[in-house]
Amino acid sequence: MSHVSLPSLRPSACPALSRIVAARDGGLCRVKLPGGVLHAAQALAIADAAEAHASGIVELTNRANLQLRGVKSGHEAELSRRLRDAGLGPQIPAAQAAWQATVADDVRNLLLSPGAGIDEYALCDTQPLAREILVLLQSEPRLAALSPKFCLLLDGGERLAALDHPHDLWFAAMEAKADDEPWFAIGLAGQPTALQDTAANPALAAVRARDLPAMIMALLHTFLDVAAPDENRMRDLLRRLSGADIVTRAATRAAIELRCDSTICAWRRAPADPGRRFGAWRQRDARLWHVGGQPPLGRIDTHGLRALPMLAEEYGNGTFRLTPWQSVLIPDVPAAAVADAKQRLASLGFLLDAQAPLARLIACAGSTGCTKGLADTKRDALDLAQRLPDGVDVHLSGCPRSCAAAHCAPYTLLAVEAGRYDLYRQEPLPACAPLTTSDVAARFGVRIGTNLTLEAAAQLLGAAARSTLDD
Ligand code: SF4
Repeated sequence: MSHVSLPSLRPSACPALSRIVAARDGGLCRVKLPGGVLHAAQALAIADAAEAHASGIVELTNRANLQLRGVKSGHEAELSRRLRDAGLGPQIPAAQAAWQATVADDVRNLLLSPGAGIDEYALCDTQPLAREILVLLQSEPRLAALSPKFCLLLDGGERLAALDHPHDLWFAAMEAKADDEPWFAIGLAGQPTALQDTAANPALAAVRARDLPAMIMALLHTFLDVAAPDENRMRDLLRRLSGADIVTRAATRAAIELRCDSTICAWRRAPADPGRRFGAWRQRDARLWHVGGQPPLGRIDTHGLRALPMLAEEYGNGTFRLTPWQSVLIPDVPAAAVADAKQRLASLGFLLDAQAPLARLIACAGSTGCTKGLADTKRDALDLAQRLPDGVDVHLSGCPRSCAAAHCAPYTLLAVEAGRYDLYRQEPLPACAPLTTSDVAARFGVRIGTNLTLEAAAQLLGAAARSTLDD
């Protein structure tokens, strides 16, 4: 009888489709969506499952996924089964063992722009490449040894892009000359740098589009070959090995030709505009538009989750997309239907104006949903919205883990006790990096107020915003 050795599986406390994690308000089940895309029938299946087996509250995440809160005790297996039956799990052969399904789910951390394939400024459509990469990721058992937080970005040069979210590996389309095959810049532990950014995170090399899937697999294998047991993320390994060394080892392993000349280091992507997640924007096909809105504090109830697919079918192509800003986007809306689609989305409570106070606030689950939370951040964010000064974007975090924000927000209110917060202001330099939870100042910036009530925080935010304007 042949013996098949299984790769070691890193223990994880991250919620997943088949790993429902206990939280203060019940179980937490995370559903990963390839490219952030949700089909109408899947959205309805999630709404039904959330009502039958959980609290009915669905949360959008900063990696364009969603999670069901308040999973009822004893309902975990049935909830996972229903979601898998709706096609929301990893696409692996049914005969594969359950542990392999969990592994395949964990490695599906590939972020695309919500404008992938439709953004009028995109240099290429990343969706076909992403499909190919996801198949490879899901079929390599060795990747079980990666942290479930290990994440990849595939950037097609879209104007609607999140450039402040760090990734373990990032790949960004470069401008191709006529008749030239597209190349992708490669970077480690960060994000592509845009033209206007002062904090450079230069690309290390570039690879042809056709070699990109193999290069990604080679980089992941190389990471697993050389990372020590306590080096879970690429940033950990970079303290010991240079990025150029890691990329060269991977290219050699896969016999892939790289470009490593000075133009690669000097390369910058075009600026991004995250504001395009709000309202209506023309697509690459000028007859069509995408219409986007943000649910207050990133949460949708089952009524909203049932209404969204109806809008997507009535005005678009029957799908909608989640964004890394905890918002939604309905693609392929004909010009004549844009006004109606916007009005209907707004009538569901989605925010279409980037300047609305609640569109400038994000908050983690806080003390009502999480045992680590020192304050009810969701309720406090609603309270703060009543007095939020113009022009400031604020993140309320119940503890230093910063679950609601992968990036460093301009201002962070970090809970110290119920209703009280320390206020941090993002430092313009250096660029914010994901750090350990103990490194609060480096994660959130400079502390400019301590133990503040919400009223005092609003006053200080107003003063800080005015002083920034005066600079
Ligand atoms: S940031 Fe802290 S309090 Fe908020 S959800 Fe995460 S772990 Fe819980």
